Amino acid sequence: MYGRSVEDPAGFWSDIASEFYWKQKWGQPVYTHNLDIRNGKIDIQWFKGGKTNICYNCLDRNIDAGNGDKVAILWEGNDLGRDATLTYTQLLARVCQLANYLKSIGVGKGDAVIIYLPMLMELPIAMLACARIGAIHSVVFAGFSAESLAQRIVDCKPKIVITCSAVKRGAKTIFLKDIVDDALTQSAQNSVKIDVCLTFENESALQKQMTKWVEGRDIWWQDVVPKYPVTCDVEWVDAEDPLFLLYTSGSTGKPKGVLHTTGGYMVYTATTFKYAFDYKPKDIYWCTADCGWITGHSYVTYGPLLNGATNVVFEGAPNFPDAGRCWDIVDKYKISIFYTAPTLVRSLMREGDEHVTRYSRKSLRVLGSVGEPINPSAWRWFFNVVGDGKCPISDTWWQTETGGFMITPMPGAWPQKPGSATLPFFGVQPVIVDEKGVELEGECSGYLCVKNSWPSAFRTLYGDHERYETTYFSAFPGYYFTGDGCNRDKDGYYWLTGRVDDVINVSGHRIGTAEVESALVSHPQCVEAAVVGVEHDVKGQGIYAFVTLAEGVSYSEELRKSLIKVVRDKIGGFAAPDKIHWAPGLPKTRSGKIMRRILRKIASNSLDELGDTSTLADPTVVDQLIALAHS
Ligand code: ATP
Ligand code: MG
Repeated sequence: MYGRSVEDPAGFWSDIASEFYWKQKWGQPVYTHNLDIRNGKIDIQWFKGGKTNICYNCLDRNIDAGNGDKVAILWEGNDLGRDATLTYTQLLARVCQLANYLKSIGVGKGDAVIIYLPMLMELPIAMLACARIGAIHSVVFAGFSAESLAQRIVDCKPKIVITCSAVKRGAKTIFLKDIVDDALTQSAQNSVKIDVCLTFENESALQKQMTKWVEGRDIWWQDVVPKYPVTCDVEWVDAEDPLFLLYTSGSTGKPKGVLHTTGGYMVYTATTFKYAFDYKPKDIYWCTADCGWITGHSYVTYGPLLNGATNVVFEGAPNFPDAGRCWDIVDKYKISIFYTAPTLVRSLMREGDEHVTRYSRKSLRVLGSVGEPINPSAWRWFFNVVGDGKCPISDTWWQTETGGFMITPMPGAWPQKPGSATLPFFGVQPVIVDEKGVELEGECSGYLCVKNSWPSAFRTLYGDHERYETTYFSAFPGYYFTGDGCNRDKDGYYWLTGRVDDVINVSGHRIGTAEVESALVSHPQCVEAAVVGVEHDVKGQGIYAFVTLAEGVSYSEELRKSLIKVVRDKIGGFAAPDKIHWAPGLPKTRSGKIMRRILRKIASNSLDELGDTSTLADPTVVDQLIALAHS
């Protein structure tokens, strides 16, 4: 299949696309692209001329196939014992009511809608309702500050903002409506005035009467939406009409507004979901990502529903009420496919095995990981302890920009290697190039690029096609440049080494952050590590390592030495950290990725250059680290 997918992409993807419902078939050629900046404007199109609707394909098509009574969403609330379900038929009815409401206030094809909701069922419902009427959704993770939300509102000028009263995450209540009020005031000051703020009453967190209200602008979801009909005609859109706009997680700086279109995204997310997780109709699937990230778009909402899957949507925090919550949920719903991020794996690993082993987990069949390279030691723990040594791990490498999995194992199809995302998915042709953009062969190390387009490639950065071209297509003309460093081993397996901006050059040795971090994390007392380069008189750059220790372990000189030794033994003396900085916590984006940009500033004591920290999950971590630097 892979052979055909790269030799005859048009035929390969047409055959798969034909399994979906198209009001009108796409024209010829199936795709056109120019990925070479030297030949003019960068442009990618798939299935142009085809008319379809992704909401119809997620819901109506599955219901027509006889799956109307199958559970689409298993919702698990933050607090134990709060849950709900929706079948495909019920989900469609909810989606149609909201779609009708949106139409009634004048939202239509091509209009932007900002969704600022936690993981309630209403979040996927809102995404699908937009898709049904051809509106462009832009989900903003409901952990972002008023300022970040305002920034995004000003950027995409939505017709409406959809939110809820508040949400409970763990023991904490977050007053989302207050944040939205603040954001709407800020955006009005930037001449973007929002007329309607549709607010869902999330009763368990904050009731109506306690919520601050702006008469005329704010409307309770429960007051209006249920009054609308449970059927709603579909807006047939072109395959190349925009489906959504999503800002990247911002690990490297100001977030980019990534734009995805309809047809190619639909075909690709459905196909990747099916193969990379070996999906079968009986599976119960749970992805822990929030719909505020691309993972939640492609692998909570669209990929699973396109396949008619039963999907868990979890509102809460994975460590509440305790570190066993995930496995409690796995047993409760008999989850067979569990997809999460290395940051969660590492944090649970830190809490000890007993939180895992007291649950049966016997329903688990396939595990998945995304977001960062998974350190081999975390991989082994995930495999041996969580999966009892019987569940393959799909370590899926991809990006907001790629829409779907690019390099990923396929369970059972080829051997895994802990820490490697293994081999490319159908239709994907990764290449590794050197600094000059020369394609390297065989075993090598360099910059990861992709040649040719694939159906769910992003088409532009919203409102800034020039930034799209310079960020992704200028460094190595002819290729899409991912920004990531990568090694390819003798078996052709790909090993992501982290972002190239983070590569450290020690006495001429180029060292990927992932390699050193994985070595540190393999130390039994170290659960998380982040390394950055700092100026060094002799070596050019030295290695500065921030390490988080296992629960109950305290820092000592002896431990420092043994951490350095582990790097020497695993990689070599040249990669040995010059400095170990004890870190009770690390600065992470709200999607759980380590922000090395900030660590670099702390390491070099350039504290006045910390830059934008608004995408950090917990900004207080930074002060803590600064304090420890001087202790
Ligand atoms: P920004 O582009 O704004 O800095 P971001 O890159 O963190 O933010 P995402 O699109 O969410 O935004 O993340 C994609 C990046 O995450 C990849 O480029 C890669 O560095 C990393 N990544 C994701 N999955 C994997 C994986 N399985 N293995 C290694 N790295 C991964
Ligand atoms: Mg990125």
